[in-house]
Amino acid sequence: MKIKLIYPPENNSVQSHLLPLGLGHIMGFLKSMGVYAEADDLHNKVIKNNLNLSKLSNLNEIQNYIIEKHNDFDEISKNILSLTNLNGFDLIGFSVTDQSQVNILLVLAKYIKKTLNSKILVGGSFSNNFEEFQNKYRLFDYIVLNEGELAFKDIIDNSLNTTNKLISNTIYYEKGSKRIGPSVETPINLKKMPNFDGLDMSLYTNDSLSKPIIPYQFIFGCPFNCNFCSGHAKLRYKSPKVVAEELSKLSKTYNSNYFYFLHNTLNFSDNYLKKVCEEILKLQLNLIWTDSIRPTLFDEDLIKLLYKSGCRKLTIGIDSGSDDLLERMNRLIKVSDVEKTVALLSKYNIWIHVNFMVGYILESKNDLELTYALIKRLERHLSTYTISKFMLLPNSNIYNNPLKHGIEILSKTKNSKDTNEYNEYAFDEINNLNWEQKKKQQEFAFKIISFALKKLDKYGLMNNLDQFYSLVDKYDNDRIKINKILFN
Ligand code: SF4
Repeated sequence: MKIKLIYPPENNSVQSHLLPLGLGHIMGFLKSMGVYAEADDLHNKVIKNNLNLSKLSNLNEIQNYIIEKHNDFDEISKNILSLTNLNGFDLIGFSVTDQSQVNILLVLAKYIKKTLNSKILVGGSFSNNFEEFQNKYRLFDYIVLNEGELAFKDIIDNSLNTTNKLISNTIYYEKGSKRIGPSVETPINLKKMPNFDGLDMSLYTNDSLSKPIIPYQFIFGCPFNCNFCSGHAKLRYKSPKVVAEELSKLSKTYNSNYFYFLHNTLNFSDNYLKKVCEEILKLQLNLIWTDSIRPTLFDEDLIKLLYKSGCRKLTIGIDSGSDDLLERMNRLIKVSDVEKTVALLSKYNIWIHVNFMVGYILESKNDLELTYALIKRLERHLSTYTISKFMLLPNSNIYNNPLKHGIEILSKTKNSKDTNEYNEYAFDEINNLNWEQKKKQQEFAFKIISFALKKLDKYGLMNNLDQFYSLVDKYDNDRIKINKILFN
């Protein structure tokens, strides 16, 4: 079986400096099985070729194209797909990690169905957005809802007629009947080193960034159980020695020491993290890396070790400055932990990006005031930030047990944001705000917390990955010099 893996275009003109990790993981896995596979990144290629995708934002028009009321999107589809080679592939797999790829992929899948015989698979963190379209139009042969390795293995095994088993983590149709394969996590021994062979590395660089940023993941799942989170996969991790060896190979193969680790909780175990840093130091890899942590207490020696191994920025999910709210979220952190962690990271010159979540269930004015006050106490240590509004996610503890968490779920609504549409579950707070009032409360809270964080806007440039890595590298993380560039 010949497989093509594609990162489809997002509907924006922002070049990505990160190699596509989802593709890389599956490529690494397929190569380890001896399967012929190629990969391509159509997002950066579309930008490089100045293709305008603005026509592909109207969902009604897209649905009319799918049911063949018009063929206006044939030409743009042909132009996009001419940037890669799809001939002779039995399976074309798309990795969707951004909402704006959903519309575009619907159009591309329709065009592929009209012109080629290949089967189409869609996976990635937004693949569940295709379910309702699939029920109507059956454009895809496989929708992979969780980790992809075992789904590919089952598809390949079945194609060789060696088995006819249900395809793991996948929704598909067989002889006209809908099948849903068992939900399984990929064992850690099948989590292979990502493989980005065949991608044009020059697509990821620009005038300020001379080498690509390599994404890498060595911890999978999470041992915690925050009530709002839908990512409750079992914790699995690679051995520290394997991590350092893979980092060394990736750095040499793709000629870059810039790494972007993708974990929710890098510090799930201080001892494990310490060993990872020690192994990196043993191999003298000279990396620059960033990641995300939980703001639980850090040992000062561990922070020194993190810095020595190349850590230059950490993202911290603070969410709220109210201990009461943090407890109701089941975050298992205290505001005092956050303050101590932030101060220590700052002392050792690690850039800090913070995430806050506003509009959580029953968030009070007092909770907001506590968050505001915390921001003011931490402000001098922070650089960049993100604010999100609480959203009810399927499979979260709250979604699975709404009454216990003080809400009544109403319905799935469409929420239009620019050209993107995403599904959102409306809810009423029991004995408190109804959905309309809750939306207003979230807007208000967002404004307050944005105002509190406003002083950090001067670090805006450091939100751009190319600027961050190149400035930190060029000035050897010298804050005085970097601030001069940023504020002039
Ligand atoms: S929010 Fe983060 S720490 Fe909490 S359960 Fe989800 S992934 Fe784990």
